[in-house]
Amino acid sequence: MSMFVHVEVDAEAAADMELAKKLVEVCPVNIFDQDASGNCVVVEENEDECVLCDLCVEAAPKGKVRVIKLYG
Ligand code: SF4
Repeated sequence: MSMFVHVEVDAEAAADMELAKKLVEVCPVNIFDQDASGNCVVVEENEDECVLCDLCVEAAPKGKVRVIKLYG
């Protein structure tokens, strides 16, 4: 479980292979990966590496990817 940042991908967006590919590409710290079916998964052990660049949020349709800060 991450301590500082939690990244959420909406289920419908996660099933979109093109979007999954894009997310894997844009994130500089490899927080996104694709499972065997091509669905987007969040690599939990990397979540705390998030640099809050928002590239993933911008790459996805509005509201489909959320980056949540777990600290104040
Ligand atoms: S905000 Fe940036 S570093 Fe964080 S998950 Fe999105 S693309 Fe990766």
